[in-house]
Amino acid sequence: MHNELPTLDRLATRRPDIYGGITTCCLCGRAEETREHLFSCPTLNEQNTTAWNTAFEKFKKEVIKVADKPGKGKKKQTSKSKNKLHNAHDMLDFFVGFENKMLGSQRELMNLALGFINKSDVKRLGNAMDNTRGTITKARDVLTKLSYRFRKYFREFTWKTRCKTVTEMEKTRGISNKDKKKKKKGKKGLTGSKRKAKSESNNQEKEGKALETMGKVQEVVAKWITEGTNWLGV
Ligand SMILES: [Zn+2]
Repeated sequence: MHNELPTLDRLATRRPDIYGGITTCCLCGRAEETREHLFSCPTLNEQNTTAWNTAFEKFKKEVIKVADKPGKGKKKQTSKSKNKLHNAHDMLDFFVGFENKMLGSQRELMNLALGFINKSDVKRLGNAMDNTRGTITKARDVLTKLSYRFRKYFREFTWKTRCKTVTEMEKTRGISNKDKKKKKKGKKGLTGSKRKAKSESNNQEKEGKALETMGKVQEVVAKWITEGTNWLGV
């Protein structure tokens, strides 16, 4: 994810000798293939929805599981069942509202995939789950997991589908793996591109590790916000 996702617009910048002038989305043919477009491409709509549904189902189960555990600060045993019922209603409200928000905005979905957790969502989920101490932390944890899972399924469904089509396009255009590994015209040797490919895969590894660490997620988000602002032309 992030800036390492080799969408056609990025590839055209990185390897204009191969990808220059072929940045149009291979799936819909309607727009330039940017990271943002992967979330709005009509042809990828089904894959994005599947990625969301798969992640969201797990998220809901987890929220219910976490909310069912008695909180430390909860002392009113008598009104426990009443509270539970109240919480269930609040949680359902949260699920519906949150899902509508996410599916109603490609920007929101992309932000979630990028690891951006909305503070107001954390607060609303925390309140819906319970009002005891530590609930906000729990809410943030489950939302972070949702983000991680959505990113994982996005890669599994959306990105894989996209890559299949791009590989076909490359075949049609006679772009081989050899071409991709070859250094840009006019320069000899493979060391440079090999090193570059290695550093890219290292970056992806690092990225994966970083995303599993909550602290680092914030860093990545901060970085994205800075770069994303320019990228979105805002
Ligand atoms: Zn498209």
